[in-house]
Amino acid sequence: MGRTVLILGGGTGGVVAGHVLAKVLPKTDRVALVDRSAVHLFRAGLPLVVTGRRRPEDISRSLDSLEKLGVQFIQAEVEEFIPENKAVRTDQGFLSYDSLIIALGAEQELSPGPSSVYNPYDLQGAQQLAQELAKFRQGEIVLFISGLPFPGAIAPYEIALLVDAYFRRRGLRRKIRITFVTPESRLLEFASPYYSKKLRGIMEKRGIRILTGRQVHSLAKGSSLVLSDGDLPGDLFIGIPRHRGPSPIRGSIIADPSGWLIVDPTTLSTSLPDVYAIGDAAGIRSPAGTYIPKVGFFAHYQAEVVARNLALSYANKKPRFRFVGGAKGASMLASFRQGCFVSADVYATPPKVTLSSPNPLAYLTKMLFERYWLKAWF
Ligand SMILES: Cc1cc2nc3c(=O)[nH]c(=O)nc-3n(C[C@H](O)[C@H](O)[C@H](O)COP(=O)(O)OP(=O)(O)OC[C@H]3O[C@@H](n4cnc5c(N)ncnc54)[C@H](O)[C@@H]3O)c2cc1C
Repeated sequence: MGRTVLILGGGTGGVVAGHVLAKVLPKTDRVALVDRSAVHLFRAGLPLVVTGRRRPEDISRSLDSLEKLGVQFIQAEVEEFIPENKAVRTDQGFLSYDSLIIALGAEQELSPGPSSVYNPYDLQGAQQLAQELAKFRQGEIVLFISGLPFPGAIAPYEIALLVDAYFRRRGLRRKIRITFVTPESRLLEFASPYYSKKLRGIMEKRGIRILTGRQVHSLAKGSSLVLSDGDLPGDLFIGIPRHRGPSPIRGSIIADPSGWLIVDPTTLSTSLPDVYAIGDAAGIRSPAGTYIPKVGFFAHYQAEVVARNLALSYANKKPRFRFVGGAKGASMLASFRQGCFVSADVYATPPKVTLSSPNPLAYLTKMLFERYWLKAWF
């Protein structure tokens, strides 16, 4: 009888794992993917929703499309992890597995805040923010990061730069102040001080005020952000929420005290037999001791490693694929015409992350990747 590989989550990691498994496992094995949502969301497209360049349907794809590959899609909320029975409980019933790939991403902590704080990290928040920005004509915009680590290592900087570009295009930039607030001791903390300074230079050249090392105590009080060193007034607040590990797994023995899932950094296996965790849900530490950035590129490569190794071990062969913590060809949009290439080698000592100067090729690369992802994987 065939085995069942159960994938939890239909984001970047889950979709790649489903594709690869469908290709490399014998047809007698079953691959099933569970997600609470019927659609996959290409999160890297959210900054363009914020700035009115994408509609939700442009960056969403039906997870049903995986069925044509032979991957069963189950729309359900995962509620509980029961490793002793090799099963999970969902709102649609119990699902058992021979192997489990946890790709539930990072969960946003919903802080009770006033409605004047917009969350660009979810689709509805991004849409509401786009509507607000369209009406906004003057005043102070404050973009803040609530806590570390956050998914999309470069996404907050990208959003700030795109908001700047958006108002320049509308001829309103002179009437608008943009302040960027972060708990990081320096921007792009994971990179060397040289690249932190470089990013700071790119943002300051665009007139974005930067406040580093600031803890946000509460989202806003009246029309102020309450920071560790005083209040910061503003007219429109864009808040990157705090994130934590996925709640159905958070209390289990494979979660660290912050709820991120503990995995072998190269094979993504957990301490439980036949259970793997990939993507944003995994809390992988670099040799320097900090969490590695949570980016789609890593979720993608990790999914490939786990899926290919599973196929080898099912065929009684030695798993030989390894996640090496590297990525090339990623980019951060710096405007609607330019981007900056980002490369990473996060398992190096010290970790290496580089950022190029803004250029049209990096912009084009990101646009082509988006098109490729949404076409080739669905
Ligand atoms: C604004 C933004 C911009 C970004 N830009 C980039 C970029 O330019 N480049 C890059 O490489 N990365 C980028 N990222 C990061 C990238 O999107 C993530 O690293 C990637 O999506 C992680 O993939 P994942 O599979 O681990 O999780 P996700 O893609 O988050 O998928 C998790 C899935 O699990 C489902 N789920 C969660 N909990 C449950 C549950 N209890 N029951 C059922 N289903 C559940 C969710 O619905 C979701 O579909 C960005 C992120 C954001 C937010």
